[in-house]
Amino acid sequence: MIEVILDKCIGCKICVKNCPLDAIEVVDRKARLKDNCVTCGICVRVCPKDALEKVEEVTGGTLRCTHCPVGCIIPEGKTGACTRYTHSNGEIIRNRKLVVDAITRVPESINLPYKPLITAVGSGTEYPCCKPAPFIVQDNIQGVDVVTVVTEAPLSYSGAKVKIDTNMHIGEEGAKVKRDGKVVGMITTEEYGAKMLTIGGANLLSNGNDGFVVARTIVDLSNGRRVILKVDKGSTLELQQGEAPVIDGVKEKLMRVGCGSATIGLFARHLAKVVNEAIVLDYHVIGLLSEHLAGEEVGLTYTGVVPYGVRSTRGRYFGQHGHGWGGTEIVNPVDAVASVDMNRSKAGDTILVTETTGQKAALLEIQEDGSVKEIPMTEEVLNAVKLISDTCEESVVSIIYTGGTGGSARGGVTSFPRKLTDAIHKEEINMTVAGAPVFILPGGGINFMVDVGKMVPEATTWVPTPATVAPVEYTMTRDKYEELGGHTDKIITKAELLKRLEEEE
Ligand code: SF4
Ligand code: SF4
Repeated sequence: MIEVILDKCIGCKICVKNCPLDAIEVVDRKARLKDNCVTCGICVRVCPKDALEKVEEVTGGTLRCTHCPVGCIIPEGKTGACTRYTHSNGEIIRNRKLVVDAITRVPESINLPYKPLITAVGSGTEYPCCKPAPFIVQDNIQGVDVVTVVTEAPLSYSGAKVKIDTNMHIGEEGAKVKRDGKVVGMITTEEYGAKMLTIGGANLLSNGNDGFVVARTIVDLSNGRRVILKVDKGSTLELQQGEAPVIDGVKEKLMRVGCGSATIGLFARHLAKVVNEAIVLDYHVIGLLSEHLAGEEVGLTYTGVVPYGVRSTRGRYFGQHGHGWGGTEIVNPVDAVASVDMNRSKAGDTILVTETTGQKAALLEIQEDGSVKEIPMTEEVLNAVKLISDTCEESVVSIIYTGGTGGSARGGVTSFPRKLTDAIHKEEINMTVAGAPVFILPGGGINFMVDVGKMVPEATTWVPTPATVAPVEYTMTRDKYEELGGHTDKIITKAELLKRLEEEE
């Protein structure tokens, strides 16, 4: 149980925010435990005033869960901190239905079925790891005996890679990313048309008491929940798997069609028909139509227009990151033109300034003195810009869950863990996570990445060690499982399992 030291408690509610079970409240500015507290100790660790104390006592009507090192003390009818186990009639039982049907989209083959016989979602965890995995199931697939071993593995080596389709500048690479003021990750690189965040990883997960919010964030993102993150000296991000990112309160619509140079290359023919010049603003490369090789290809000669940015190669310029058009600093399109050589251009010539998504576009007219002014868009220019927009894909947030099962998590599968690692790298075992195919990183260990959009919904959980919990399936032929020294005495047939699950219901 947890004791509140009343004269130390200041009613700050940090414990309330961090409790995974909503088992503590603040009444009259003092913390008060509810009857579903399981003594997991998170609140004790996050309290800034040491006002909570853990008393390790299994009292009447409670049971200690032994499925992970946290050891929740669970009252009758209540659920442990990871929400996977319930104390029911004097027993600790799994409370999530075992998801039998795998959803992997990889086709089956006879020698190595790519589809696990069951998923690990709802399977629970056996602890310590020398115990066989919770379910080891066998079936006969097209004349071949196949085994799937499943476990919900607590992984302190885990995280999420978040791909945000946007041209917007969200912050500097390396900038810390926070949730509720706690560091949960960082901006890593810009990738094609997108910004990447890394959330979690072993160091942040074990970063004192802030690891709880890190674990929660990885799981919320992986389970498709909306999460609000703040980049240090950068943007506020609202992120949800498969949905458009919201950056500083603005919903992103389109992913760029390419950089400014690529946009010129793709649309030079159309643009050359409707304007004398075009500048495509992009945070990576700004394109200038008439100077670009694509402009020459469609019969243009250089107009003498110099765009904003520093020249790189023909028709390609580098700008600065900013919150303006195309992720550059330009907020007023006339500023996209640095100068005009009136020996090459003449008054009345037109310049289109657009983003690579075509979402923002303006038409400029060159004046007698070489300055430019904005004029109304013509229908034909609008159509050319629409062509760019129509070619763009929608902006989405995509989450990749990453983890490592190369350590103790192998114990439940076989007593010879190195054999498991080697067989996975040789593709003799098909590893899936929540039914989805994984990419195994080369080199040592079993470091994997998985697209959460392909996983069974709400597949991941977390435990207050802290670690995230990944449902992992290993599928192989029975012969291979025997060769690995697997726990063959624990194998049950899929038919037996289905019968057992039916009886449980
Ligand atoms: S011990 Fe765990 S379950 Fe109980 S109030 Fe604290 S955080 Fe919540
Ligand atoms: S957090 Fe660990 S000890 Fe608590 S219920 Fe879950 S598996 Fe059991």
